[in-house]
Amino acid sequence: MKMLINRPQSVVAEMIEGLVLLHPSLRRLPGWDVIVRADAEEVRDRRVALISGGGSGHEPAHAGYVGRGMLSAAVLGDIFTSPDPDSVLQAIRAVAGPPGALLIVKNYTGDRLNFGLAAEMAKAEGIPVEVVVVADDAALPESAETAGPRGLAGTILVHKVAGAAAEAGKSLAEVATIARQAARSVKTMGVALSPCTVPAAGKPGFALAEDEVELGLGIHGEPGVCRAPLEPADALVDRLLETIFGRFNPAPARVALLVNGLGGTTTMELAIVARRAVASLSARGVVVERAYDGTFLSALEMAGVSLSVLVVDDGLLAGLDASTGAPAWPNAAPRSRVERDDRPSAVVSKPAPPVVPPTAAALALGSALRKVAEALIAGSPRLNELDQAVGDGDLGVSLARGSRALLEALPALPLDDPAATLHALGVLMQRSIGGTSGPLYAMGLIRASARLRDPDDWAGALASAGQGIAELGGAASGDRTMLDALIPAAEAFQVAVNAGSSPGEALIRAIEAAESGARATASMPPRKGRSSYLGGRALGHPDPGAEAVALWLRAIASREVD
Ligand code: ADP
Ligand code: MG
Repeated sequence: MKMLINRPQSVVAEMIEGLVLLHPSLRRLPGWDVIVRADAEEVRDRRVALISGGGSGHEPAHAGYVGRGMLSAAVLGDIFTSPDPDSVLQAIRAVAGPPGALLIVKNYTGDRLNFGLAAEMAKAEGIPVEVVVVADDAALPESAETAGPRGLAGTILVHKVAGAAAEAGKSLAEVATIARQAARSVKTMGVALSPCTVPAAGKPGFALAEDEVELGLGIHGEPGVCRAPLEPADALVDRLLETIFGRFNPAPARVALLVNGLGGTTTMELAIVARRAVASLSARGVVVERAYDGTFLSALEMAGVSLSVLVVDDGLLAGLDASTGAPAWPNAAPRSRVERDDRPSAVVSKPAPPVVPPTAAALALGSALRKVAEALIAGSPRLNELDQAVGDGDLGVSLARGSRALLEALPALPLDDPAATLHALGVLMQRSIGGTSGPLYAMGLIRASARLRDPDDWAGALASAGQGIAELGGAASGDRTMLDALIPAAEAFQVAVNAGSSPGEALIRAIEAAESGARATASMPPRKGRSSYLGGRALGHPDPGAEAVALWLRAIASREVD
């Protein structure tokens, strides 16, 4: 896959540099992958701030929607990886004043966790925050059994009407109400003609034959809900609208239509699709009040299109028509002035390494952590591959990022105090992993750390980690997640310790349990996280998060002890 990039690791940072050079109305929050309105300081005391974001790779979302009348800030994660809660919190602090902030979050497990945690932290600081979740995906039913409909291109319409309300000086509660009305009233369905390739993974997320299309896909290069033969554009448009209308009850009378290219679709094709969509809607007796086409929310270079239908009233129409300075909204004022953003992008400062007394236990813990990091880095391609089969292919990349942060921090960790070490790692992982795994690992480490006030209770620490992850992510045993390796491992460890085994023997029992738990996930239907969108199509593939648990447990066993 050829791409105009320099290094896969610097794609997001260099894109941000380009965006702020192109658009004088945008600024980078120094040191963070956050883009804010250049006039945020001037308006924060008078206007509700709107914040959105998510993984990168969806350009022009979300940075392109930052500007007067739309978003106050966009938080950018790595490609297809949710940003960490710290970055979201920084964005809130940067743009929210006394009127507060509304977070517009697409319904993905990772985004919900990371934005949700940041909202809690901001509220604890006294900043009024509301969260609106957009789940406009028409391909998936509402269900308590899965992560449910995803947030797709309809989210841009929610940004637009909520942004207009905030710009008009409405209160946080009023802006949130309008955003929720729009979120409830929009449905989206897409079709992909080709997959896309995450630069760091280097190969496409799925394969499609020349004469095949994938229907009902998400925006992360994950496979859709079904595969179908390629048909003429008009037939595909009718199929998409059919699914969308199946989700509306009663059928809408007045709508706005968004024809969204997924990244690799020609403007010509978008117009051909728009032509049929408007005609089909009219034939259904629906008044198409507004229609937009373009690339609004992409999945890298994926070819294909999504249609979003928003049921409108006069209020929402006025919100769509209100003027905005956001560069990616059609008809925004053209930008001509180019300014440099000369502020340095601050590097997160690291504490000076304390003097570590090299006790045998500290050396063993340090060695275990190094082995874990090295194993996750070495295993990264395999974990990406496993995640590609049932998710978005970034798990290896994400855990390797956390591992490199661990290796860098290792000399400064208080290894003679396992509880303090695990706590520090929790904070570090929350910043460095991202995605769904990031907040879950952070929670697990922080809970384990609390249990290690008894420094020998590693069995209890494993069990506490599992409980914390289950609480934060809402999954249980059998839901086909990392818990299906972690919980059996914790139990086996405890059983062995109770039976008088040495910690080394207990660890071997835990590894065996984790490995057989991970294998067993291949026959479990997914109910949580991104795999849940695939339903039965995930069967036969083990859960990548569970495999990762087995991998790092095995790495611990290879630590050097004397
Ligand atoms: P994503 O790319 O979807 O944000 P990651 O690639 O970081 O997620 O992690 C995927 C793994 O996270 C899955 O294989 C699964 O083991 C785990 N996971 C997903 N949702 C949950 C949940 N609610 N609770 C526990 N683990 C989960
Ligand atoms: Mg993933």
